[in-house]
Amino acid sequence: MSDTIFGKIIRGELPADKVFENENIVAIKDIHPVAPVHLLIIPKKEIPDLQSVTPADFALIGEMVSVAQQLAERFGVIEGYRLLTNNGSPAGQTIFHLHFHLIGGRTLGPMA
Ligand code: 5GP
Repeated sequence: MSDTIFGKIIRGELPADKVFENENIVAIKDIHPVAPVHLLIIPKKEIPDLQSVTPADFALIGEMVSVAQQLAERFGVIEGYRLLTNNGSPAGQTIFHLHFHLIGGRTLGPMA
């Protein structure tokens, strides 16, 4: 089982502000938000990063996108939001359990 913070949150060993959960996915509020809306969409399956995704995971990735759409609607940001993942340390990944950041609620500048 994943020993990352997200693995522990999925197993209920660490608290988190959950905004969505089903059998495949959990979504939580980021503990250090960079915008008024900053959610993390996390598959329960242990996948370390986007580069590790295989065709067997494509349905799960599609479901993560669907959850992002639903949360964008619920959190009132469908006019403009960013959905991203950091793949690898040089890109800024710090937790090696795949997750999408959903960021919005303010005008977002250009990508760094
Ligand atoms: P990464 O840097 O891997 O792309 O994103 C990890 C994200 O997880 C960061 O935005 C960070 O603020 C968030 N984070 C780190 N620890 C915790 C935690 O214990 N709880 C929650 N909700 N978010 C966390």
